[in-house]
Amino acid sequence: MKVTSTTNNLIQLTHLVAFNCYLLREDDGLTLIDTNMSGQAQAIMQAADKLGLPITRIVLTHAHIDHVGSLDALHEALPDVPVAISERDERFLSGDKSLDPSEPQVPLRGGYPICKTKPTLLLHEGDHIGSLEVIATPGHTPGHIAFLDTRDRTVIGGDAYQTQGGVAVSGTFEILFPFPALATWHKGLALESARKLLALQPSALAVGHGRVLNHPQEEMKHAIHVMEQALAKEEWKQSHVA
Ligand SMILES: [Zn+2]
Repeated sequence: MKVTSTTNNLIQLTHLVAFNCYLLREDDGLTLIDTNMSGQAQAIMQAADKLGLPITRIVLTHAHIDHVGSLDALHEALPDVPVAISERDERFLSGDKSLDPSEPQVPLRGGYPICKTKPTLLLHEGDHIGSLEVIATPGHTPGHIAFLDTRDRTVIGGDAYQTQGGVAVSGTFEILFPFPALATWHKGLALESARKLLALQPSALAVGHGRVLNHPQEEMKHAIHVMEQALAKEEWKQSHVA
């Protein structure tokens, strides 16, 4: 795993060039944000050891396989460490892939593996966990959440945006790294969530796939604009096909 110090408190761990999870320094140790693909537990714990700090909590942005892949192995090794995910995406971990009647009835996309681990904390918009505030950002998955570090306004955005293959809102097809687009459930909601993260005026944006952006607002604005254009085009096509 490649270990990159990004902001004062945030360390990016990268597997196979494009798959990130993060360690965040807190007063009481490290918060692990996402768990990467399966087989990465050892490397994640070694990275924490090198920083000389214990992992004191695990938080998940969403239930896709490249974010919860090493969850069970980490939970086995660190059974007393609390695990947190949104209440909505928690259902996927036990294999319940039903949609709520209030949600857009479009098919889920991407891999949602069943996990043995039962999260100890179910998160909602506005909750605080360590220095992080929970920001509901549905779209990529129904219960996708991002985290705002209230100390320095770094946003850890999961797959709400990607920066691999170009800075984009998830759901925008980027030929050089198309996986987040292929795994996005609802593009309209993803676009709204991308606007919500921009409105937080982040000082940095850390994502599941690609490098961390400092002063990201111009690039986020541009990505939103591109997504708006793409969605408008799709709507035009749909209205002219029937
Ligand atoms: Zn994802």
